[in-house]
Amino acid sequence: MSTIISCCISKSPIFETMKKTLSERDQAVIWHPYTQMQTAPAPIGIVRGEGALLFDEEENAYIDATSSWWVNIHGHAHPHIAEKLAEQARTLQHCIFAGYTHEPAVQLAERLLPILPGKQQKLFYSDNGSTAVEVAMKMAIQYWHNLGSPRKKIIAFKNAYHGDTFGAMSISARSVFTHAFEEFLFDVHFIDTPTHQNIQALKDEITSLAPETIAFIFEPLVQGAGGMLMYSASLMDQLLAHCKEEGMLLIADEIMTGFGRTGRNFACQYFNTAPDIMCLSKGLTGGAIALGVTTCSDNIYNAFLSDSSLKTLFHGHSYTANSLACAVALASLDIFLDEKCFENRVRIHQKHLQFKTFLSQCNEVKNVRIQGTILAFEVVSSGEDTYTNNLAKYLHQYFKKKRIMLRPLGNTLYILPPYCITNEQLDTVYQGIRDLLSLVAQGELQA
Ligand SMILES: *Cc1c(COP(=O)(O)O)cnc(C)c1O
Repeated sequence: MSTIISCCISKSPIFETMKKTLSERDQAVIWHPYTQMQTAPAPIGIVRGEGALLFDEEENAYIDATSSWWVNIHGHAHPHIAEKLAEQARTLQHCIFAGYTHEPAVQLAERLLPILPGKQQKLFYSDNGSTAVEVAMKMAIQYWHNLGSPRKKIIAFKNAYHGDTFGAMSISARSVFTHAFEEFLFDVHFIDTPTHQNIQALKDEITSLAPETIAFIFEPLVQGAGGMLMYSASLMDQLLAHCKEEGMLLIADEIMTGFGRTGRNFACQYFNTAPDIMCLSKGLTGGAIALGVTTCSDNIYNAFLSDSSLKTLFHGHSYTANSLACAVALASLDIFLDEKCFENRVRIHQKHLQFKTFLSQCNEVKNVRIQGTILAFEVVSSGEDTYTNNLAKYLHQYFKKKRIMLRPLGNTLYILPPYCITNEQLDTVYQGIRDLLSLVAQGELQA
């Protein structure tokens, strides 16, 4: 009897599966994002997470120094988030959000809107960052349309990144990411980020574009995927005030910067001029579930109110305001608004400042910059400072071997950790970088 069973099991797909590692099974069936599948090394199978650590199939611990693509702010498998998720899953998992509503969605809007900068008075749900951006653009375009004076142009920053869907790609920098799609993207006016040298010229440019401009969309303070580029808050504030005077809508894409990443709760809190529309995702659920929100002032919202259905915002995704995601976002908000979270961000910032002293004296490093919990710099290389710099894959592999998850953008290395990362874990990351830089100095690691 037992031989019959074992014989059957050994021929079953389950048995085949049991023999292989997660990584091997993955390679037979999965197509990974932002990955050249022909040359990429086998992915590492992750089986569990705890705090700032992720564990592979052999129980090796990796320090998640970039918050799992910038989403994880409180650490992995957080007990409070797990508990609230389980509770919600036993109550209501999802229901249609047109004509119906539910507690987690309403409560999240009630709690989130008052802590956002400026007058954010209405909240629209979607699924992720890119969709939050699509909604923001549709709100802005249709706002002018509904007022009876449609406009044509969107202004964005050079090096901007706003997502991977077509609209979001259109308002993002033309780069390797968008190369194959360029002729399918709509036209956008790209401007430089503000500096003391160009601020007056930028204002003049804004004035000349203003009459036909729908909105100016920007990543406040830090351009993430563009290479963790940082610019001055006070100059940006001047620019925003000028845009406002010229009557254009302001859309803040806080998908990466939101929820404490830049120090304050939201990066727009470094400006006096508030945005009309905001996009949030990534840290919104503490990195546990996909969710996106677009918020706006009543000024925008009211332009859609009408007896005519033509003024309706015709947008919505099947999983709009998913109850599980909203419950998780509420749990994440509890942790985020606790004083301990702020203290952690200050602690990380102080640690970064200390490490910067070392980096600034290092010949292999340039442009060391810090904003809140983000530290970034370029590793000096013979190649150009771009995403396709060959150094990237060496750096990535190097840190993988050290069991530190750092995924450079070209030759730009950055640390963007979960706020719960310990000082010891941070020191391990810094030491990994020190070791790398001495290899670079010895000419042992080259692009
Ligand atoms: C990641 C990101 C997006 C896109 O979010 P997804 O959830 O990946 O679609 C948009 N804007 C900014 C600033 C981002 O960092």
